[in-house]
Amino acid sequence: MPAQSSSTVLGRQATESKYRDRFSYDKVTWGSHCIDCYPGNCPYRVYTRNGEIVWEEQAGTLPVIEQGVPDMNPMGCQKGAGWSSTIAGGERLHFPARRVGERGSGKWERISWQQACEEIADGIIDGIQEQGPESMIALSGCNMSTWGVTGRTRFYSLIGGLTTDLNAEMNDFSPGHYLTYGKFDPVSSIDDWFHADVFFIWFSNPAYTRIPHQHYITEARYRGATIVTVAPDYSPSAMHADYYLPVKPGTDAALALGMAATVIEEGLVNEVFVKEQTDLPLLVRDDNQRFLVETDLREDGHPEQFFWLDATTGAIAPAPRDTLALGAVDPALSGSVAVKLKDGSTVTARPVYERAIARLADYTPEKAAEICGIEAATIREIARKVAHGRTKTLGSLNNAGKYYHGDLIERSQLLLLALTGNWGKKGTGVQAWLAALFDGWLMGAAKPAAGPEVTKALYNGYQGFVAGIRAEDPTMTQEMATIEFTKRSANGGKTGWVPPVFLWYNHAGYDKTWNRADWNDADMPRPFDDYYNESLEKGWWAGVPDKNPEPRVFIECGGNALRRTRGGRKMLLTNLWPKLTTIATMDYRMSATALHSDYVLPIAAQYEKISFGIPSTHTLNLTFCDRVIPPIDEAKNEVEIFGLLSKAVASRAKARGLVTYKDATGVERRLDDLYERYSCNDAYPTEDAMADEMIKDTIITGALPEGSSLETVREKGFIRFTGLGMNARALGQASEIEPDSTFTPYRDHVEKKWPYPTLTRRAQFYIDHDWFFEADEQLPRHKDPPKSGGDYPLLITSGHNRWSVHSANIVNKMMLQTHRGEPHLIMNPSDAAARDVVDNEVVEVFNDMGSYRTPLKLSPSAQPGQIIMYNGWEPYQFPNWDGPSDIEPGMIKWLHLAGGYGHLKYWPNQWQPAPACRGTRADVRKVTT
Ligand code: SF4
Repeated sequence: MPAQSSSTVLGRQATESKYRDRFSYDKVTWGSHCIDCYPGNCPYRVYTRNGEIVWEEQAGTLPVIEQGVPDMNPMGCQKGAGWSSTIAGGERLHFPARRVGERGSGKWERISWQQACEEIADGIIDGIQEQGPESMIALSGCNMSTWGVTGRTRFYSLIGGLTTDLNAEMNDFSPGHYLTYGKFDPVSSIDDWFHADVFFIWFSNPAYTRIPHQHYITEARYRGATIVTVAPDYSPSAMHADYYLPVKPGTDAALALGMAATVIEEGLVNEVFVKEQTDLPLLVRDDNQRFLVETDLREDGHPEQFFWLDATTGAIAPAPRDTLALGAVDPALSGSVAVKLKDGSTVTARPVYERAIARLADYTPEKAAEICGIEAATIREIARKVAHGRTKTLGSLNNAGKYYHGDLIERSQLLLLALTGNWGKKGTGVQAWLAALFDGWLMGAAKPAAGPEVTKALYNGYQGFVAGIRAEDPTMTQEMATIEFTKRSANGGKTGWVPPVFLWYNHAGYDKTWNRADWNDADMPRPFDDYYNESLEKGWWAGVPDKNPEPRVFIECGGNALRRTRGGRKMLLTNLWPKLTTIATMDYRMSATALHSDYVLPIAAQYEKISFGIPSTHTLNLTFCDRVIPPIDEAKNEVEIFGLLSKAVASRAKARGLVTYKDATGVERRLDDLYERYSCNDAYPTEDAMADEMIKDTIITGALPEGSSLETVREKGFIRFTGLGMNARALGQASEIEPDSTFTPYRDHVEKKWPYPTLTRRAQFYIDHDWFFEADEQLPRHKDPPKSGGDYPLLITSGHNRWSVHSANIVNKMMLQTHRGEPHLIMNPSDAAARDVVDNEVVEVFNDMGSYRTPLKLSPSAQPGQIIMYNGWEPYQFPNWDGPSDIEPGMIKWLHLAGGYGHLKYWPNQWQPAPACRGTRADVRKVTT
């Protein structure tokens, strides 16, 4: 072997020490990724040297919760492991800037924070003077940064501006869950997945979107669970399943109903569960198809007292309103009974269950197979497994609801689970999303002054209101009364947090789109506006945003309207933008919306400020992200920025003589002391102080254990929640958090027999509302997706891509290097051949709404007739900045404007119409110019 020269040895030593130094550090800090990442909540260790991040990695410190169930480690994904490269990316905003050219021209000048805030303040005051405070709007966004929500909520609520409801903004709503349960968002802990015997991956792609949690699916499979992936495309999650069901896009209701029909046909129904938990035994009159209620029998009867047919006595009996327990009654699921009405006439009535059986006759496995494309034998085989095992359905963030008829799909899925007794027990149920538990966060946005005494007074006052509602109706549970209080506080969506579709209808051009009969449900009996106007005339949405006032000020803090809004950049730029006199975007990077703003204000990214993971029963942990490094250049956290804005508004208001004004509800507001009220008289000199108080406030509401503090979370990186706290959505989980057990929602309904917050107080499959009869949707059924976008042969599906969390990392170079580096459309090779286009060719995707250009990726994983565009891409990643949302009409289903009926009433994140995007029609052609 030749001797090595001294220079070679020295060179190798230098290389080695460089390699070893790469992993040397002088400080380690807890981190996570709280912006845009849900459910996330991965505890990370972030390593720094000389004040710079050198790397980050999964902590792996989460404990075993339930003996025999794997722990949650290692939680993390590639975006988290690369976050430090995102915060160092070229797209970061470093300084406040003001546009100097046309909006969207890309010409900016750097200005000071003071100048930016004063100019925006003048815009706000102009808007208040001209149109009123409701002319100031903001998206609630999915950037749930702790300080972003706190700052924006405090500022907007003090001024009287409007914030649009998150769930309609991005359609993460599950209308079918809501129709059935009176709440949309059951969420089990991720370790509860392990208990499933049958695990449906249905409207979900966890291999892309639930990377830290996917291992529970594999572990359940090792335990013996059957994994069933239902998706039109052979999705990246399909390879991890035992069964792959390539359902035709948008026909999932037929598949679920085919399985439900099998369960009935083969006598596999869990009758006790059905009788206790659902409305299926309740009597419906044959003459008018309405539930039999006590007011039918007696003048002084209760309008919401429903009846059963007692199989033992053959007589009708009232179904208790305060419990699901059957007591001495054995409710019949079939049969007919003659009932004498208060006017002396007699009608016959029969249980809903009989009507459901009649409906399911249209969905025998053979008939369902014709609709959904899955063989009848397979439908039967899976149905038997569902009936014999604990079945859980993972529907990632309510993708079913993103279809126009997603409510029907969800109601059909729930009917299958109801017939087989598959919720409220470990390893069962459906999944939606939840952001609650961390009550101190809400308190931080609402407290008029600092300190625990203020929190206790607010909490006690809140409980007093809830107790008052229970006193009005002692049959209500705490959950129901809290939901009722939340509905009353929401004020019908008139102020504060509002359902956005009314803003879009009146100010963004959607009135024309939604009135396109050919893009709507083919069975819609009347024009869209008939329903829209009727819903307002009947007061179902009284007071929601109207034509006046016109929007004037738009502050984007946490959202990205021009990327994400269905209907797209062009709809907003054409219709809404000209009405806006001041547009300011707070972001850590240049987004599509920032590019079209008047001002961009740089915010500190995670690791540059304190933040907490979006709190949820998914992991049941309050996850902490510390301030690892100082904010880049002049970036600030959002609480600080809204503080500067509050000072500027107060100062400019005084200078301009606008001290007080009234909002639309007649409440007088004032501006001269805005900063003092916003900051609780400077009660929180540091973000540490505010974070500590939020944690301690959450102890008061019972969601965090005694002794919790910023110090304790800083030590461990997370704290496990011990209670659901005070929030209606959290209480809607209807289950106790136990220290040594996985979490399953709705156990209180199933084990304690607590009623549901629906009209019938049961999981409700029969909706006897006039409009539901018009639609023939009083019971679940299948309807084809309408031809939204025009009569085109291809149907667009979507989902989150693998390389970003929403859009947060979508321009991160490291992530881009892990794929083609740009957006692409996935298409079946046969469809491509028919259009004479080839792999990687830039094509035009078009329909009646518009078009955009993108490279093709040919893959047999897509069905013929299906095209897949994963979302999150910024419009500026496409030629001419036209992106996928520009061809999505964002249709809303007219039926979701229904109200005046039991639980069909708005409250934040709950019942409201939300624009659809899945199933939009389009075609693809060669680019010739
Ligand atoms: Fe976990 Fe989200 Fe961070 Fe990925 S980005 S590691 S999922 S918190």
